Amino acid sequence: MLYTSTQNNKEAVSSAQAIAQGISRDGGLFVPESFPKYDGVTFEALLRLDYRERAKKVLSDYLTDFTAEEIADCVDKAYTAEKFGSDNPAPIASVNHNGAELNLLELWHGPTCAFKDMALQILPHLLTKSLKKTADGKKAVILVATSGDTGKAALEGFKDVDNTSIIVFYPSDGVSPMQKHQMNTTTGENVGVCAIRGNFDDAQTGVKKIFTTDEVIKALEDNGLMFSSANSINWGRLLPQIVYYISAYCDMVNAGKIQLGDKINIVVPTGNFGNILAAYFAYCMGMPVNKLICASNSNNVLTDFISTGTYDKNREFITTVSPSMDILVSSNLERLLYILSGRNDAETKEYMTALKSKGVYSVGDNIKNVVSEMFSGGYCSESETLETIASLYNDSNYLCDTHTAVAVNVYEKYLKETGDNTPAVIASTASPYKFSRAVLSAIEGKEITTEDEFEIVDTMEEKTGVCIPAPLEATRTMADRFSDIIDPCSMPEYVLSSLGLK
Ligand SMILES: *Cc1c(COP(=O)(O)O)cnc(C)c1O
Repeated sequence: MLYTSTQNNKEAVSSAQAIAQGISRDGGLFVPESFPKYDGVTFEALLRLDYRERAKKVLSDYLTDFTAEEIADCVDKAYTAEKFGSDNPAPIASVNHNGAELNLLELWHGPTCAFKDMALQILPHLLTKSLKKTADGKKAVILVATSGDTGKAALEGFKDVDNTSIIVFYPSDGVSPMQKHQMNTTTGENVGVCAIRGNFDDAQTGVKKIFTTDEVIKALEDNGLMFSSANSINWGRLLPQIVYYISAYCDMVNAGKIQLGDKINIVVPTGNFGNILAAYFAYCMGMPVNKLICASNSNNVLTDFISTGTYDKNREFITTVSPSMDILVSSNLERLLYILSGRNDAETKEYMTALKSKGVYSVGDNIKNVVSEMFSGGYCSESETLETIASLYNDSNYLCDTHTAVAVNVYEKYLKETGDNTPAVIASTASPYKFSRAVLSAIEGKEITTEDEFEIVDTMEEKTGVCIPAPLEATRTMADRFSDIIDPCSMPEYVLSSLGLK
């Protein structure tokens, strides 16, 4: 299987090349040339496998330049019971709420307590093998822009991994105190963490710019280094996410909630459009899906896009209680546009160029019609997010985080509007303890005044009886190692000097 760029499909690269490089040199994103097709017989076989074996099957159909042993090595090292708390890293919790069953696909049992671990625990293994295959001894410098969760998950995945170093940029006022503390306490010799004055989009734009700045690339090349990305623009991030949707479908069948062949709805709290795109790719492979429900917070640029076909980022950037979804430029939408345009690279490039220069583009009816047929978009306000946390806790005794709450709220509105009671799987993307202040204020119904993050954690544990995950508890007594804050324009300089190249 080969991969082509969304902005130039004349050239094709291997999966190892796509993963090692992260982003195509023309600025486009790598997409597989076709999708492996899974029919009933394939799913029948998957039903009997555990998570790791399902992962090996899916990965081997995409990473055709990896041997079976290499894939098994990556998967078995990534999804251990030690790291994810059990042999199923992505269990489903079924909860009755407001008369409907919510199947919450808990993707946050990994070492940093957000769904990013599902991909970032395996990406370093995929990447080091990809580098060996393609990059003749070069070491990889991983640059990450994060709205909070990717940063810590990437740091944990890459810390002390041979032949790699990692630098993470996060918006100084755009992440939760726990997210900031988790990042700034990361151990490891090859890691760097830096805050920028700006929002997530500024951080992401800055990183993308560094990737395509000739002068910086040259400085790295001269020193046996190359850039790679751990953001969801990297194919090695998206692919492991396809696995948990397929595995969830199998688990729904095995639990007797659906029959093999029945369709499901999938609800995803969305920011950069990576997680929901992985669900769409599972659908492209033959997984029976009725609707993909894209849930946004007040930064509802995707809700508007899905209903109108116009993507317009010219609007106020709102800092919310679900910071990992505070994004106005959803990078992975580019991959959807490419596929829905019939793999038209020129058309995709046109949209992306317009987005860069004017901040807005409108897709043709060809794309618009398919988007509205397959996707439903909705958003919820800050108060609705908090109300949902409280009601889910009070009525159903389930404690969820602020991002998952957005998904639940949008799903329940969808249910009311459409009456579509197709069984739904809702991606639950983080532990509530990553966003303790908002979660506690929701269930107590009042503002939390203390500044002490762990005091909030203690109150929440006492009140709910839900334990804080061990990896978060472990940071309680750790001192911050990093404290740099810079302007976005200084990011290239910062990278070069961190690497000792300036
Ligand atoms: C990253 C993140 C999201 C958004 O996922 P995308 O793949 O960027 O759409 C949602 N919730 C949480 C907790 C996250 O960390």
